[in-house]
Amino acid sequence: MDTATYTDTLLLIDGEWCASASGKTIDVANPATGKVIGKVAHAGIADLERAVAAARRGFEVWRKVPAYDRAALMRKAAALLRERADSIARLMTQEQGKPFAEARIEVMSGADIIEWFADEGRRAYGRIVPARNPAAQQSVIKEPVGPVAAFTPWNFPVNQVVRKLSAALTTGCSFLVKAPEETPASPAQLLRAFVDAGVPAGVVGLVYGDPAEISRFLISHPVIRKVTFTGSTAVGKQLAALAGQHMKRATMELGGHAPVIVAEDADLALAVRAAGGAKFRNAGQVCISPTRFLVHNSVREEFARELVKHAEGLKLGDGLTEGTTLGPLANPRRLTAMTSIVANAREKGATVATGGERLSGGGNFFTPTVLTNVPLDADVFNEEPFGPIAAIRGFDSLEDAIAEANRLPYGLAGYAFTRSFRNVHLLSNSLEVGMLWINQPATPWPEMPFGGVKDSGYGSEGGPEALEPYLVTKSVTVMSA
Ligand code: NAD
Repeated sequence: MDTATYTDTLLLIDGEWCASASGKTIDVANPATGKVIGKVAHAGIADLERAVAAARRGFEVWRKVPAYDRAALMRKAAALLRERADSIARLMTQEQGKPFAEARIEVMSGADIIEWFADEGRRAYGRIVPARNPAAQQSVIKEPVGPVAAFTPWNFPVNQVVRKLSAALTTGCSFLVKAPEETPASPAQLLRAFVDAGVPAGVVGLVYGDPAEISRFLISHPVIRKVTFTGSTAVGKQLAALAGQHMKRATMELGGHAPVIVAEDADLALAVRAAGGAKFRNAGQVCISPTRFLVHNSVREEFARELVKHAEGLKLGDGLTEGTTLGPLANPRRLTAMTSIVANAREKGATVATGGERLSGGGNFFTPTVLTNVPLDADVFNEEPFGPIAAIRGFDSLEDAIAEANRLPYGLAGYAFTRSFRNVHLLSNSLEVGMLWINQPATPWPEMPFGGVKDSGYGSEGGPEALEPYLVTKSVTVMSA
């Protein structure tokens, strides 16, 4: 496949693609080779000042555009994204590492998300409330909250932006995003689709630079009215605290450590296919990735054997090479983290049933790994692994598995496999998670709520709930004069 197409990335400020005022840039590397393939502009304070001023003006224009017209423009952007899916996916694979087919699905599902939000924004209704005084009319009006500052990570360069962007635009907010410096070109193409669809200047903006400097500046800036972040729990807590200090609304999509409960009566082939597929997608760098496999002791060995077979059937390689089903890790930090997780598990007495090794040569390649007999005090059972490692433990009663699932402060996704209604009922009512998938892999469709509880954050990025954080409520009472 053609790899000579990687492009440098500029900032998008006031409808114009531009270098930073200082001319500073950051290198972008291909995780499959470790080689620098391009550059991204590094915004300084002067650029951020301009971007915020543009977002303020953009908001004044966009809030007055009827929801019907906003939806039409969003649909146009979605169509452009579909048309350009192959070239955007190629950029994504080169900067992020995931197999081309996965990158393409991410872009196509981005278009689907935009369309869903476009339609939903047309139904952001207010209401009339019967008044106690017959001469009065009481209405409740929903208005856009204002310019939004978004911060998104490198694991899904397009998908992490598109939910925030779509919710903001459909409700009439302007949107300024600090997208990931490690994977800048594909999210820039997402914004380009909106610019090319005709979004007015300042309605969408894009910056890159020093994440801490940008978040401090934007969150404390009086023009910004809402903050939305996806990333680690540690950073999310800092940004939520800052947002609280400045009385800004915030949505936090943070880390997870998803339990996968495989009951005695599970369809094992389905469990291996669904959870195994989900585990190694995007090399496990997914906040809803299955991570803690809790398997009934009567089927534990068979499940582990089949999961090992699944892992060993994956083809590790450059995501642009035909047939690759598992790409490199997105950055060298993840490689170091995987090595230390496996070493720690070994020390604590776990068995490395397959994988556990980084490949020599260029690129951040780590073999798909299955750990069995993992003790509870191993790091992998406590900290989010965020990589291609499945850790398996046995259980005897479903109640014990549920207690283990709920033990950690995380509460994002959960998975379960069982044929019994009693188990489904118990799991649905007891697991402390924001999303639960039973007898299937994750299907985070835009029409379903997406978000976590506990340390996994707050707010939703799917379903009608996803619009609320971008809207403020005004109650208006009018007496006939
Ligand atoms: P990190 O905590 O340094 O960064 C995570 C993300 O937050 C990155 O996109 C980074 O640019 C951004 N960030 C960091 N500090 C920031 C700040 N002060 N202001 C604004 N943004 C800031 O971790 P990392 O090494 O990039 O990723 C590893 C960990 O991050 C993983 O273990 C995982 O828990 C988490 N993560 C989660 C998701 C998710 O989808 N929820 C995505 C990527 C990373």
